[in-house]
Amino acid sequence: MSAAFEKDILPTEAGDLQVTFIGHASLLFEFGGKVIYSDPVGASGDFSKLPKADLILAAHEHGDHFDPQLISQLSTAMTKLVLTPLCFAKIGRGIVLKNGESATVDGIRIEAVAAYNILHKRDTGVHFHPKGDGNGYILTFGEKRVYIAGDTENIPEMKGLGAIDVAFLPMNLPYTMSPEMVAAAARMVKPGILYPYHTTDTDTSQLLPLLKDEKGIEVRIRRMP
Ligand code: ZN
Ligand code: ZN
Repeated sequence: MSAAFEKDILPTEAGDLQVTFIGHASLLFEFGGKVIYSDPVGASGDFSKLPKADLILAAHEHGDHFDPQLISQLSTAMTKLVLTPLCFAKIGRGIVLKNGESATVDGIRIEAVAAYNILHKRDTGVHFHPKGDGNGYILTFGEKRVYIAGDTENIPEMKGLGAIDVAFLPMNLPYTMSPEMVAAAARMVKPGILYPYHTTDTDTSQLLPLLKDEKGIEVRIRRMP
């Protein structure tokens, strides 16, 4: 696996936000000297040369989002975790946020929002992501609000998130969304920049024509299989 990750710099009033696209759901944000990981998972990329964490977020307890062993490797005595109740049950430490709750950690406001399936279920009839179990997170860097949706479909709560500058929306069936569902989600969220992520083997090029009439949304495709 290549260690040459794609990176973007997103300017904010409080300095640059650097985003490193590690793979699948794993993202690294660097802002104001702080190192923030969202869903770091060892199977999604090579973390061996990446910095220790000030803050780690976990969207839900599935193995492609929550990797307790890697969390230990990335942590120092000062590292803070923000996670769901089901993640907390597995690791026994961290700041627990449920949907609708928020916290400010290292000066960064973190809002936990809903993330769940409406359509897609396991053979047992249970949704892959039952409502209330998982979080999406909105992080505020300077004046910029960054929405990391977690594993979700295009749920009605997306209409009520407020102004979103940057959105990460998951695009892989059957667990999350098709390109058409991501486009529907994007029309609700109206982000300035949209990154499809958690794409597995989805053809990411399918998304661009679906959103060609949404002039306010810049779709950026990065390697996040
Ligand atoms: Zn999941
Ligand atoms: Zn997932």
